Amino acid sequence: MTLDFARNGVFIAGRWRGSGSGELIAIEDPSTGQTVGELSCASAADVDEAVAAARAAADGEWGATPAFERGRILANISRAVLDETDRLAELEAMDVGKPLAQARNDVIALARYLEFYGGAADKLHGQTIPFQAGYTVYTLREPHGVTGHIIPWNYPMQIIGRSVIAALATGNAAVLKPAEQASLTSLAFARIAADAGLPAGALNVVPGLGAVAGATLAAHPGIDHISFTGSTAVGRHIQEAAAKNTVPVTLELGGKSPQLVFDDADLDKALPFLVNAGIQNAGQTCSAGSRILVQRGVYDEVVWRMAKRYAELRAGPAMANLEVGPLISAKQKAMVEGYLALGRKELAVAGEGRIVGDAPAGGHYIAPTLFADVRGEHALAQEEIFGPVQVVIPFDDDDQGVAIANGTPYGLVAGVWTADGGRQMRLAKRLRAGQVFINNYGAAGGVELPFGGVGRSGHGREKGFEALYAFTTLKTVAAHHG
Ligand code: NAP
Ligand code: MG
Repeated sequence: MTLDFARNGVFIAGRWRGSGSGELIAIEDPSTGQTVGELSCASAADVDEAVAAARAAADGEWGATPAFERGRILANISRAVLDETDRLAELEAMDVGKPLAQARNDVIALARYLEFYGGAADKLHGQTIPFQAGYTVYTLREPHGVTGHIIPWNYPMQIIGRSVIAALATGNAAVLKPAEQASLTSLAFARIAADAGLPAGALNVVPGLGAVAGATLAAHPGIDHISFTGSTAVGRHIQEAAAKNTVPVTLELGGKSPQLVFDDADLDKALPFLVNAGIQNAGQTCSAGSRILVQRGVYDEVVWRMAKRYAELRAGPAMANLEVGPLISAKQKAMVEGYLALGRKELAVAGEGRIVGDAPAGGHYIAPTLFADVRGEHALAQEEIFGPVQVVIPFDDDDQGVAIANGTPYGLVAGVWTADGGRQMRLAKRLRAGQVFINNYGAAGGVELPFGGVGRSGHGREKGFEALYAFTTLKTVAAHHG
């Protein structure tokens, strides 16, 4: 697979070029640790140019494109993405290290976002408001104008889907800053979108360093909205930068999401979800179900069954398509190893997977690890690990379960496994999270379902119809006609 295109990966006003500074960074394959190419690193001046190009598109051809036509273009891009499923999946598997089947899911999710938001583009409208005699009052839903999108490396295509595509559907022109470790599918997507009819300047891509391209974009006076997905620490910087320009921000940050398993749960149904929510994408998922809270009556059985499943888990190269791939980088692996060392010292290992024998020595592999009998206050139960590591915590009753579940600074997602209908409804209200799943976890991606956090998990909502409100502003028109 040739990656030459990444050396000219700055995409502005429909044209590809290298960065203005000529700076390049290495592209690493996390399955091997080998450098496989070079990526152009956009400079601050490149970001200025991308923002100007987006403004010209918002004020020009793209801004004048009728809503139904925007929807049609997005639908065309969706088909073009599906036509390229194999190539995009291979590119993502290589770049992020995710098992091929998981990379394929991401391509299909991106196509689904394009369909959903393409279909929604001409169905978003204002209202008329009854008011005093002599007035007609109505509201207009209008795009912000230029939107900035800073995304992480863990699910590039899905996050483009829920962020960039919702912004385009509502008539914004976008500037996308992909993560330095995983920019390739953002570049490939921009090319597919342009070929499928997206006008020049509607989507601009500035790959490169967070501290340069990302920081310049976040602080840019020429953007009207910024959407950020990534760590809580960087999220804070983004909000500060946006505050200086008083622009709205959507922050999708980390999580430490609980799954509560009650004595009356259908364990056969729950088990695959309990484990998968922790190991999918090698645990590098903001909504990973990394804390398993289990009521005492089924505690031993759940730990035993999870441990049995862990013993079957294999970590290996993305192309081998096993349950778990490598982590994104040596740095991420070292962070996870730090947590594992602490866990081994202070906690009980209940289950462990293995790294396959033929996994390349330079790859960033971690054997999936399950800790049991963990207290809710322990660091491994409080901090986002971002690796294939889960903790199991016992609880006695609803009140204690809810207290432990809500007892972290995060609040992204929660899962509840119980047959009791009343408890399902009560817990859905009591759990502090942006999404609660009852007798499932993740709702198979749920493109239609609003997503986002409370507390340190961020604020604002993406996905579903809700995102269309976030990427527009409301204008009230009050006409006095006597
Ligand atoms: P990150 O540092 O927050 O990076 C996310 C994005 O922000 C990347 O595009 C990054 O660029 C950019 N960025 C970094 N510093 C910036 C700055 N000062 N101004 C503007 N943009 C900046 O996250 P990460 O390094 O990818 O992962 C670190 C931790 O974040 C993880 O361990 C995990 O806890 C969390 N995380 C959460 C999610 C989620 O979906 N909620 C996703 C990924 C990571 P570079 O790539 O060049 O750094
Ligand atoms: Mg990479």
